[in-house]
Amino acid sequence: MTTTTHLSALSATDPAIAAAIGREEARERNTLEMIASENFTSSAVLEAVGSVLTNKYAEGYIGNRYYGGCEVIDEIESIAIQRATSLFGMEHANVQPHSGAQANMGVYMGVIKPGDTVMGLKLDQGGHLTHGSNVNFSGKLYNFVSYGVERESETMDYEQMAEVAREARPKIIVVGATAYPRIIDFARARAIADEVGALLMADMAHISGLVAGGVHPSPAGLAQIVTSSTHKTLRGPRGGMILCDASLARQIDRGVFPASQGGPLMHVVAGKAVAFLEASTEEFKTYTRQIVENAQVLAEALIDAGLRVISGGTDNHLLLVDVTTKGLNGKSAEDALSRCGIVVNKNAIPYDQLPPNVASGIRIGTPALTSRGLGPVEMRRVGELIVRVLEAPEDSQVTKEVTAAVRELCETHPAPGVPLA
Ligand SMILES: *Cc1c(COP(=O)(O)O)cnc(C)c1O
Repeated sequence: MTTTTHLSALSATDPAIAAAIGREEARERNTLEMIASENFTSSAVLEAVGSVLTNKYAEGYIGNRYYGGCEVIDEIESIAIQRATSLFGMEHANVQPHSGAQANMGVYMGVIKPGDTVMGLKLDQGGHLTHGSNVNFSGKLYNFVSYGVERESETMDYEQMAEVAREARPKIIVVGATAYPRIIDFARARAIADEVGALLMADMAHISGLVAGGVHPSPAGLAQIVTSSTHKTLRGPRGGMILCDASLARQIDRGVFPASQGGPLMHVVAGKAVAFLEASTEEFKTYTRQIVENAQVLAEALIDAGLRVISGGTDNHLLLVDVTTKGLNGKSAEDALSRCGIVVNKNAIPYDQLPPNVASGIRIGTPALTSRGLGPVEMRRVGELIVRVLEAPEDSQVTKEVTAAVRELCETHPAPGVPLA
């Protein structure tokens, strides 16, 4: 069984968990992680997240805590806030949300009342659970209405957004997605929000790294409220944040604490601060340009092989691929790729005919592979490997050869932050 030397205290106390972490390290080292929402955070972020800050209770906000001993905590939270506001050009930041979902809950709790109307992107066309799914608190507590993507272009239907908004008069319009490969037009969404007297909330969970790097237009100055996770393209620790206009700061802060959370995870807040610093560098800008170029190279490779890429390509870090043209469904494609060490997720495509647990598509992202240093040449190769698997998912010789090629790419491109065996 694999145990790793850097986990010596853990191995002594709890061999089962230490061994499991060792196996997860091996999995992360040896597979091509192409889940669009995943990434490798840096060793610096991991050190902050693994620090003694986890010991400290700090309910409340800077200078106004419910516990003593928060001098250092105040300093850390203040650095995180200052970096977040300057990185994204917004007036106020709340860095306490435990996750992207908690950030969205904080906004709704702070700004509107249960039963109020909110508008978001349809879940089966790229929206998120917290944009009104009936199995999520958002759909249970608020009256969500939705807009979709156009059938032909498979891009966001801003006319439908305007029509539904005029009819339903939402208090908030949420724009943002978990599976949408194109640029989002925040200016157009803001014009619609203004027309119906709604606030515009940009949920940039997937694209916040691209926004920080300048390769996706920023919602700053257009959305009064911006939410994000911090662990996707932004490459920070698992967590969330809210940015907003100064006029909404008090409501938003109260929506997070005390309305929907208790004590902040200060070790994670410190990790977010480190990630904001890293994301403000030239190196990070180059990284985000590479993410997008890699996604475009991959899209081309798949299109060349006869696969249908939703909306005809990508402007960002992900693509949605209709695999039914190869006689597969999302689940069978995900399984076949996974057997070769290529990790993706099945995903509904717009106007999908199949149920979501099977789905017609897969979602493929380039952020994690780009963090490993793969460029266009390697990405073309990854595209070829994916095509080989999708064209012969049951062929054991193909599985064997692709598995070996994956292993080689992983060995020549070590994952940042993941200890070597
Ligand atoms: C990932 C995501 C979230 C939720 O983030 P978690 O950290 O998983 O809670 C919210 N909104 C969108 C659009 C997302 O993609």
